[in-house]
Amino acid sequence: MKIKLLLIACVCSLTTACQDQKNDSQTGIESNKSESYFDLPDSLSTRRISFVLKLKKSVAENTWPDFGTKYNEGTLIYFDSEWSEVFFPDSYMIKKLQDIKKHSDNYWLSGRTDSIPYHMEVMISFNEEDSTEFFFKNPVEQYSSVEEIGKYIPSVESTEMWSTMVIHEMFHHFQYNNENLVKYAESVIGVLPFDSRNLVALCQEDEQFLPMIQNENKILMKAISEGNKDLRDSLITSYLGQREKRIIKYGSEHPHLEQVENYYIIQEGSARYIEYQSMFNLKSYFNNSDAPTILNDPKFKSFSEFEEIDLENSAFNYLVYAGPTDYHYTIGFNIMRLLDELKIEFKKDLLNNPEKGLHQYLQDYINSLPNNN
Ligand SMILES: [Zn+2]
Repeated sequence: MKIKLLLIACVCSLTTACQDQKNDSQTGIESNKSESYFDLPDSLSTRRISFVLKLKKSVAENTWPDFGTKYNEGTLIYFDSEWSEVFFPDSYMIKKLQDIKKHSDNYWLSGRTDSIPYHMEVMISFNEEDSTEFFFKNPVEQYSSVEEIGKYIPSVESTEMWSTMVIHEMFHHFQYNNENLVKYAESVIGVLPFDSRNLVALCQEDEQFLPMIQNENKILMKAISEGNKDLRDSLITSYLGQREKRIIKYGSEHPHLEQVENYYIIQEGSARYIEYQSMFNLKSYFNNSDAPTILNDPKFKSFSEFEEIDLENSAFNYLVYAGPTDYHYTIGFNIMRLLDELKIEFKKDLLNNPEKGLHQYLQDYINSLPNNN
């Protein structure tokens, strides 16, 4: 499963500005319009996408209501054999498509839009060099079919597991549909001479950086499972102290480290959090005769993989392991799980205030304790 996570990539090159483009999208349909509102062909790809959109709605209802405001977040492309199936194309996308067969305003069939064999990402670029691309200032989800993903990540054997990856990416699209977050990504984070690749390089090239992160992650994990409030609070204080120490140690050589790390902890941590929460929806479908299903899908396994979701089990452990390429996913995910344990509401504010680091919500909590007043 470790490999799975390495390949869940968000391809986004961040440089210059224009947020109106996203609002031009007419494809993020309000959720009160029913699924039958869309005119889609009856095909396996359509049934799979519809299944994920139902899952999105359930996850949102259970954990992140704003994520359910729209039935879909916007344009998405499903790659299968020689085809790119374009769902919910916006006007920008339509202008860029060539040799297309139009089924309806909601579904177009095109020859493969690129020759890249693996897709599981949200594409967006603010770089003027990409100004002729359909993803220029315009987030577009891209997914290879279950079968094609399985060739690259053998552990993804089912449509259900594939769906959790798709939900992760759909949440990135939801993030980019937030005016404040996209503006911050574009005009603040995107112009810094430091990015997520520099975080990975620090982990790989500096002998102390990753062990320090892994120690911080260990403290967070302990705090999540600690039942005693005082002990938990002191673990949180310890986490914040260790984090601060690391930021100070590396801050003089890498002055943008903290800002960039904070951003990716929010971006990837929240997407991983939603991915994890979607697994509990799939678990609730197991042995449930009312659960949504996918007709005639040879990769559909009736949710059996999710009967038991255990983060200590090797199938799920990648979610909480802080590795060199993905520590920001894990730290963000664990802080969110800790905030849930503390019953601290953060979801309403998080994407609207992307400049506020996730750790700051923990710091606010510590500051609010009586002995800190
Ligand atoms: Zn991601």
